Amino acid sequence: MKSYMLPEFNVYRDLERCVSCQVCVNQCTYMVHYYDEEEDLVKSREENCVGCLRCAMLCPTKALKIVPNPTSYRENHHWTRESISAIKVQAESGGVILTGMGCDKPQYTYWDRIVLNASQVTNPSIDPLREPMEIRTFLGKKPKELSIEAGSGRYSLTTELSPQLKLEMPIMFTAISYGAVSFNVHESLAMAASESGTYFNTGEGGLDRRLYRYGDHAIVQVASGRFGVDPSYLEVGAAVEIKIGQGAKPGIGGHLPGEKVSREISRTRMIPKGTDALSPAPQHDIYSIEDLSQLIYAIKEATGYAKPVSVKIAAVHNSAAIASGIVRAGADIIALDGIRGSTGAAPKIIRDNVGIPIELALASVDQRLRDEGIRNEASLVVAGGVRNSADVVKAIALGADAVYIGTAALIAIGCTVCQKCYMGRCPWGIATTDPWISKRVNPLIASKRLSNLLRAWSLEIKEMMGGMGINSIESLRGNREMLRGVGLTDKELSILGVRHAGE
Ligand code: SF4
Ligand code: SF4
Repeated sequence: MKSYMLPEFNVYRDLERCVSCQVCVNQCTYMVHYYDEEEDLVKSREENCVGCLRCAMLCPTKALKIVPNPTSYRENHHWTRESISAIKVQAESGGVILTGMGCDKPQYTYWDRIVLNASQVTNPSIDPLREPMEIRTFLGKKPKELSIEAGSGRYSLTTELSPQLKLEMPIMFTAISYGAVSFNVHESLAMAASESGTYFNTGEGGLDRRLYRYGDHAIVQVASGRFGVDPSYLEVGAAVEIKIGQGAKPGIGGHLPGEKVSREISRTRMIPKGTDALSPAPQHDIYSIEDLSQLIYAIKEATGYAKPVSVKIAAVHNSAAIASGIVRAGADIIALDGIRGSTGAAPKIIRDNVGIPIELALASVDQRLRDEGIRNEASLVVAGGVRNSADVVKAIALGADAVYIGTAALIAIGCTVCQKCYMGRCPWGIATTDPWISKRVNPLIASKRLSNLLRAWSLEIKEMMGGMGINSIESLRGNREMLRGVGLTDKELSILGVRHAGE
């Protein structure tokens, strides 16, 4: 069938600059560039281009320009280019349109409608270069009160504390599964988490034995497919996370195609090589809060009550009520993933239309747990499009204990958010299991880039806290007085629990 699709991108090659070195030919995993021997020229098949920009970045003479195709349909606010293209794709394929990474719809990013406070005259700001600033964060159930015993000039804590995760900054790497990304990416995340004093999350694909040495910095995930879950996996992690839902695709499962299930991945996931890894939509043993409680306590029992247990849900309409149930079921941490959360593969229609923004979900969950007097029973970790340190600070002031970052971490490694992760040919060597392409990520370099990102954000968080006159992240947590909304409706402000700027 002849395709009626327009190329998404135009490839412009400046022949004055091009030296026919063929770097672009070798780097492009979509066969966009090719060498024409007869004409001794490098040429393009631009209909293959996904806009990953690898060629343009690596071209030694900067001869390439990759530009979104300006040829488009007649302007129409209802029948946009995206909606016309989607119909043409489906008319040709008869299938579900897949995509990767996070939702790119122009929905409100509430972080951009919320501004932070700064001290002026009456409450002096603090200079983080001269004064100590505490951003260390502990995740887990906190006691309502502490008992301290005094005796012969010494004080000792007599309250028995629940297991906690200790983070040097309130940022962790979100669940990214081995199989969705290459081993080198998993290793890079593990190394950076270990070096920076935080945690990476294995995602639902298990943990390769070669990375068990980073177990102290791993949150091991138990998802509906139970891939890679056995006693040693539960034992090696610092915490266990039960995955119920994911922000990018609430309510549906996952599918890792058989061709991505290599020998190493089959060993880690504990499934035969080359078979599709299908994660069911629900956990088949969880149909109620009571069922969830049984799994939480089964994991606690299996790990000697020594590790916090987290439950991850997608942010949906009734997240606050669900979160309340999760706390009462015995979870130590709730991970809440909003509509802008990323994925390796999801139906586009689900990614773009199901779920709610993390800002609203976070504010309502935090408020509900406070209203019920159970906020201290579990920590709240949020994810779903956290882009910079200001988003982190705003999330914490809205009530989060910490954030998970995923897309930002992959961008630090090289990702250009081309959204074609589901094709398994990521030119940056990230969302692929192809051994040749995977080598493009060097764990030593990638982990350094990740550590640098965490360090940079930590410095900025301290700067912003200092500007507010706050020297401890504990004083920022849930401190909505430090936030003001701009251009938001009364209803939005009331859900966020912040006042409008000027008030
Ligand atoms: S990488 Fe640049 S210089 Fe080399 S062949 Fe491609 S366009 Fe030409
Ligand atoms: S991980 Fe790779 S395929 Fe996925 S969006 Fe980033 S660059 Fe594109």
